[in-house]
Amino acid sequence: MDLALCKGQTHYFFAPHGEQADAREAREAVASLICARCEVQAPCRDYARLHREQGFWGGENDEQRVIARRRANRARLLGA
Ligand code: SF4
Repeated sequence: MDLALCKGQTHYFFAPHGEQADAREAREAVASLICARCEVQAPCRDYARLHREQGFWGGENDEQRVIARRRANRARLLGA
């Protein structure tokens, strides 16, 4: 957590109540840029996937995390 670049910027990573699609897109674009420069992106992303976190973590939003988890589950079931 000491290395997290998002420290003090959580307003970019969690949606306010009633956020509209355009605002979400803009907010997540900023969050994505921050994550891309963060040296703990991979462990952050893995933690969020494992613990089914909500919000923007490790360069992924909720939908991207669900897709990644499904893809990993499918690969596991297929023995890949
Ligand atoms: S990858 Fe993104 S969400 Fe995770 S600690 Fe870094 S800045 Fe924060």
